Amino acid sequence: MEQYDVIIAGAGAAGLMAAGVAARAGHRVLVAEKMEKPARKVRITGKGRCNLTNMRSEADFLAKVRANAAFFTPAFRDFDNRAAVAFFERLGVPLTTERGERVFPTSGRAWDIADALVAWAREGGAEIACHTTVRSIDARDGRIASASVADAAGNERTIPVQYAIITTGGLSYPATGSTGDGYLLAHSLGHAIVPVRPSLVPLECDLPDIEALDGLQLRNVSARLVIDGKTRCEEFGEMDFSSRGLGGAIILRLSRQAVDGLIEGRDVRIAVDLKPALSPEQVSDRLAREAEALDRRAQLSDLLRKLLPRPLIKPVCRALPISAKLPVGRLTPRDTDSLVRTIKSFGLPVADYRPFEEAIVTAGGVDVHDIDPDPLQSRLVRGLYFAGEVLDLDADTGGFNLQIAFSTGHLAGRLGRIPSNP
Ligand SMILES: Cc1cc2nc3c(=O)[nH]c(=O)nc-3n(C[C@H](O)[C@H](O)[C@H](O)COP(=O)(O)OP(=O)(O)OC[C@H]3O[C@@H](n4cnc5c(N)ncnc54)[C@H](O)[C@@H]3O)c2cc1C
Repeated sequence: MEQYDVIIAGAGAAGLMAAGVAARAGHRVLVAEKMEKPARKVRITGKGRCNLTNMRSEADFLAKVRANAAFFTPAFRDFDNRAAVAFFERLGVPLTTERGERVFPTSGRAWDIADALVAWAREGGAEIACHTTVRSIDARDGRIASASVADAAGNERTIPVQYAIITTGGLSYPATGSTGDGYLLAHSLGHAIVPVRPSLVPLECDLPDIEALDGLQLRNVSARLVIDGKTRCEEFGEMDFSSRGLGGAIILRLSRQAVDGLIEGRDVRIAVDLKPALSPEQVSDRLAREAEALDRRAQLSDLLRKLLPRPLIKPVCRALPISAKLPVGRLTPRDTDSLVRTIKSFGLPVADYRPFEEAIVTAGGVDVHDIDPDPLQSRLVRGLYFAGEVLDLDADTGGFNLQIAFSTGHLAGRLGRIPSNP
């Protein structure tokens, strides 16, 4: 029977990076991947284009990591965004940096990143076994002793190993293979799990007319997340509406705190500034100008049509204390004030968040307090390492999450040893 030193559970971004590093350091590495092919999730990232990292400075990068940024810092310093770019370019994948310092393969194909990573891990000597599920990882006398894996038919075998790296990902998009197995594996070895919840996820909205907004996209708007009446954060960019609720870049970025607010049972709202480039006075002037140009018998809804996308007229009118049918000639200064307030802060009550199936990442995961940040080894079981989304680490959209997987995979793959120059 083939002998291995290291088993890696999961051939995603983190597992493949760890595999290439460990194999190049001379270890015999088996990567067990339960799906039919490695790196399924990488292949769908960035809408199929793979936003693999972000070129911000270290401080700006770490500010985008929403949990345990200090824990992540040694891994980032070991293999940072610049190292990731140099790495993929060396593998023959030309890269392009776009707006917001986001890096993509120039080809626009996420598959190029996935294939390069798989080939690099294999060329380094790692064996990748697909349709192979890690069922358990076992320790003896406080250190890793073996792992049990099952093939597609359910046939199980036990493999003696000295090291195990858990890189099973989180719970988001479970169809790619990340179904939370790593939490069970970690828990069975004594590790605590910080409650998991979807992040970078669409939100459900209670607005009565939400179906009428299906398909509406708003560009260049700003939105505040308001929890129990207090503004928590603000984002500028695009948002969109579906029959179920709210999505798009700014909603995803606000979702992490929104989800936590909902779980705590708080009142959660998104307040959208529909005219962020105009001050309240400028909106008021604009309304006055538009009203003047209209027939005095024209109604409030006709006036709003001059400023807002048509599907928004009804819900905005509903949010006002005045009738949509009020003739513009009868608008009082008080009416104009409430109109301005609603346009500058259109409130969308958030009822719920969408499930893991629609979440880009998982917040929560294996508690980092029981893990040494360098070299990402368990403090409870010697020879046990973790990398990637299975950890209680998550970040904003923009290439930060894949970089977390690459950096932690790279550091964990060293297995506590210094040398390795992939
Ligand atoms: C739609 C979508 C788009 C995204 N786009 C971007 C983007 O553009 N930029 C960015 O930075 N991030 C993006 N992300 C997030 C990013 O893809 C993840 O954070 C990253 O892939 C996590 O890597 P990982 O290796 O930790 O986990 P994963 O990539 O999830 O890999 C885990 C692997 O482990 C395997 N596995 C699980 N359990 C077992 C087991 N018991 N035995 C064997 N194998 C197992 C799984 O099959 C899987 O292949 C996106 C996510 C999604 C869902």
